[in-house]
Amino acid sequence: PLADGRRQKMAEHESLEFGKADFVLLDNVSMEEFMANLKLRFEKGRIYTYIGEVVVSVNPYRAMNIYGRDTVEQYKGRELYERPPHLFAIADAAYKAMKRRNKDTCIVISGESGAGKTEASKYIMQYIAAITNPNQRAEVERVKNMLLKSNCVLEAFGNAKTNRNDNSSRFGKYMDINFDFKGDPIGGHISNYLLEKVKMHFICFFFLFFLYLLTQLLRGAPDSLLRSLHIQKDPAAYNYIKVGGHIKVGLINPLRHKHLAKYASVADAMKVIGFTGDEIQTVYKILAAILHLGNLTFGVDGDVTLIENTKLVSVLRELLSTKEENVEKALLYRTVATGRDVIEKQHTEQEASYGRDALAKAMYERLFCWIVGRINDIIEVKNYDARVHGKNTVIGVLDIYGFEIFQNNSFEQFCINYCNEKLQQLFIQLVLKQEQEEYQREGIPWKHIDYFNNQIIVDLVEQQHKGIFSVLDEACMNVGKVTDEVFLQGLNGKLAKHAHYTSRKLSPTDKNLEFDRDFRIRHYAGDVVYSVVGFIDKNKDTLFQDFKRLLYNSSNTVLKAMWPEGKLSITEVTKRPLTAATLFKNSMISLVENLACKEPYYVRCIKPNDVKSPLLFEIERCRHQVEYLGLLENVRVRRAGFAYRQTYPRFLQRYKMISEFTWPNHDLPSDREAVKKLMQGCGFDHDAAYGKTKVFIRTPRTLFSLEEQRAEMV
Ligand code: ADP
Ligand code: MG
Repeated sequence: PLADGRRQKMAEHESLEFGKADFVLLDNVSMEEFMANLKLRFEKGRIYTYIGEVVVSVNPYRAMNIYGRDTVEQYKGRELYERPPHLFAIADAAYKAMKRRNKDTCIVISGESGAGKTEASKYIMQYIAAITNPNQRAEVERVKNMLLKSNCVLEAFGNAKTNRNDNSSRFGKYMDINFDFKGDPIGGHISNYLLEKVKMHFICFFFLFFLYLLTQLLRGAPDSLLRSLHIQKDPAAYNYIKVGGHIKVGLINPLRHKHLAKYASVADAMKVIGFTGDEIQTVYKILAAILHLGNLTFGVDGDVTLIENTKLVSVLRELLSTKEENVEKALLYRTVATGRDVIEKQHTEQEASYGRDALAKAMYERLFCWIVGRINDIIEVKNYDARVHGKNTVIGVLDIYGFEIFQNNSFEQFCINYCNEKLQQLFIQLVLKQEQEEYQREGIPWKHIDYFNNQIIVDLVEQQHKGIFSVLDEACMNVGKVTDEVFLQGLNGKLAKHAHYTSRKLSPTDKNLEFDRDFRIRHYAGDVVYSVVGFIDKNKDTLFQDFKRLLYNSSNTVLKAMWPEGKLSITEVTKRPLTAATLFKNSMISLVENLACKEPYYVRCIKPNDVKSPLLFEIERCRHQVEYLGLLENVRVRRAGFAYRQTYPRFLQRYKMISEFTWPNHDLPSDREAVKKLMQGCGFDHDAAYGKTKVFIRTPRTLFSLEEQRAEMV
C-alpha cells in the first residue's frame, strides 16, 4: 500500500486537476455539478469515474493506453479506492468477492448502442484471463482460450457493423464464467438476446455475410468452394445487399483489409472451438442460400403465382440438400388444415415475397442460435465434482442496451425499455431496498431516501391478462381481424385508468401524441411515445410451417437438426408457436432470476457524441443518458449510505491486531463493545455506526486506513 501522505497527495491531485474520481465526493449532488465533473474528466482523458462501486464510463473513441499488463498488475488484488477508477478495479472486486467469500457475482454493463459496452466486457474478460491460472495449468489455459475465441465468433455473427452504422440486432449478451475452487476458469455459458430489427437493418446483415464469405473465399479458399456455393464476387449482384440501399458498394474496398484479418480470425476460431468440417460447410451453405433467396422474384400468370428465376430454385435445392419440387412448393404454397381436410393454398405474389424474407430471416436467426448452442456444448463445465472440489462459482457478465428513446419507437424499443424496467427493479431490490431494510433490521438511524419503485410499470407490461404483452398476444389470436388498431383498442380498453399509460384516444389534446396510433408509457426514466404500427406483425411467428418442414426434411443432418419442429405435419401442429412477446418476457424473467442470486457490480456506459469523435462531449446528449441511467439517484443513495459493513466477529478476526484492547483477545462484555473500543482507539468512531450484529463504516477511506494498519502489523 502507498504511504498515507502519498495517497493523500494523489487524491488531491486527482480532485483538482481531473475532477472528482467519485461522484459521491461532489459538493452538491445536482445535474449541473455531475455533468461538469463528467465533462472535465472526459476532456482530461479520465474516462472512468465511480459512484461508490459503480463505474461510469465515457467512450473515448481513441486508443487508451490503460489496458496493458502493467495496469493489470496495478489493480490486481487491490481495494477499489486504492487506484484511479477503472474497469479492472470492478473486475477485481467481483473476482475477490467470488474467491474470498464464495459468492456468485455479476457485472451488468449497460448503455446505448455504441457507448462502449462490448469493449468494456472484453476488457473485463481480458483482466480475468490475465489474473487467473498463475500456475499455467494446461487445461485451464485451454478453457480460457476457448472462452475468448467463442466471444470472437459471436461478435462476428451477431454484429453487423459498417463504418458508419452499428446494426447489431442483438441487444444483449450474457456470459457466465465458471470457476473452480482455486478461482480458475473451467467453463462458461452464453445467452443471447435477439430482437429482429426493422427491415433495413436486417438487410444490412447480409452486407456482413457477404463480406464474410467474400473475404473468406478471396483469402485463398479454393475457387471451387465459391463455385459450389454459386456465389459471385460482385456484391451488387445480391438484392439483400443492394436493397440495403444507402450502403455504397464502394465502401467494401476500403473496409476489406480490416474484415479480411477479422474474419480470418473468425474462421480460425471456429476451428479451434471445435466445429466440424461438415458444420462449417453447412454454415457457408446457409449463408449462401440466404443471399440467393433474396434474388428470388415472383410473378403471376393468370391466377397462378410462379417463381421467375427458376435457376435459383435448383441452386437452393443443392445448398439446402433437398428436392427441387419441395423448394418450389414451400415458396408458393402453404398447407392449411380446415376441419379434417388439409389443403394447399397458393400464395399471392405478395405473400410469397413476404414468406421468402421471413424464411431468410428465420434461417439466419436459427443459424445464429445454433452456433451459440454448439459453443455452449463445448464450453460447458464437464466432470466437475463439487463434493471433491468444493463449490463451483460464477461471474456473469451482462452486456445489454440501456433505455432507448428514438424519434419513432416501435416494438423493439418497447422490449428494450421493458428489459430496462426489469433491470431497474432488480437494482432497486438489490441495492436500495436491501440497504434500507438492513439498516432498519440493525437499528441504525437512517434517513429514508425516496425512490420511485417501478414495479408498477413492470406489471403494466408483463402482468397476466391485463399487461400490454398479454393484450398483444390476445390481439394476435383474434379470429378475424388481426390489426395493430385492434391491439390499440385492447390497450385502451384495459388500461384506460392506468397512471403510466395513455394514448391519443385517451388524451386527445396531448401535443406529444401526434398520431392516432400512438400510445405513451411513463417509464421510470421518462415518457416514451410508441407507435403501434408493426407490433402485431413483429409479435407473430411469421414463418410458415411449410418452410420448417422443408428444412427439417433436408438430407444435410446439420441443417435438419436446426429445425426439429419441422417434424410435425400441419394437423399435428396444435399449439401455436410462442409469440415474440412471450419469448421475450420469459427470457427476461429468467435473466433477472439468474442475476438476482448474484452479487451485482455495475458499469454504466455513456456515448459522448454521434460522430465517434474523441474530442466532442455533447453535453445535452450525455445529460439524457445520465438521466436514463438513473445516475443522480444512484449518487444520492450512495451518499446516504455506508460503504462497508461486517459482522462483529468477522471484523475482529480481521482487525483485532491493530488495537491493544482486542489483541490477542478482548475482555469486553461483547464483540460489539470490542469493535467500538477498537474504532475509538483508532479515531474512526465518528465514521462508524454500530448495529445489532454488524459494524457499518461510512467512507471507504476509513476502511483503507484499517487495512493499512493491519498490513503494518502482520
Ligand atoms: P456497444 O457495445 O456499447 O454498442 P462498443 O463497445 O462496440 O459499443 O464500442 C463502439 C466503439 O467505440 C468501438 O468499436 C471502439 O471504436 C470505441 N470504444 C469503445 N470503448 C472504447 C475504449 N475503452 N477505448 C477505445 N475505444 C473504445
Ligand atoms: Mg455491443
